[in-house]
Amino acid sequence: MSDQPNANRRKFLRQASAAVAAIPVISLAGMSTAKADNPKAEDGHRHDYVNNAADAAGHEDYSEGEKCKNCAFWGGGDAEWGQCFHADFQGVQVNASGWCDEYVGA
Ligand code: SF4
Repeated sequence: MSDQPNANRRKFLRQASAAVAAIPVISLAGMSTAKADNPKAEDGHRHDYVNNAADAAGHEDYSEGEKCKNCAFWGGGDAEWGQCFHADFQGVQVNASGWCDEYVGA
């Protein structure tokens, strides 16, 4: 039996591993650029967004404990500001303690 198929399989697996390993690096690099360049969302940006979830108390869609940093759209950031993957929040940073009516529990 030839070693060629095994060599090809090893090469493929090495390339696939490298590609998978590169994804988080690319994502983090993109995020840090976005964080540096993007303005911070202001209250009322879209979807009744507020920088402090406590200010959403009384909103019909708000439940206590909901905030950007535990929303399924949260893309990560630092302790205060980060990225939201929702289409209507592209190009701005949202507050980790913020909230909007598109909130989805993670
Ligand atoms: S979709 Fe989620 S992470 Fe984005 S602004 Fe609304 S609550 Fe925050």
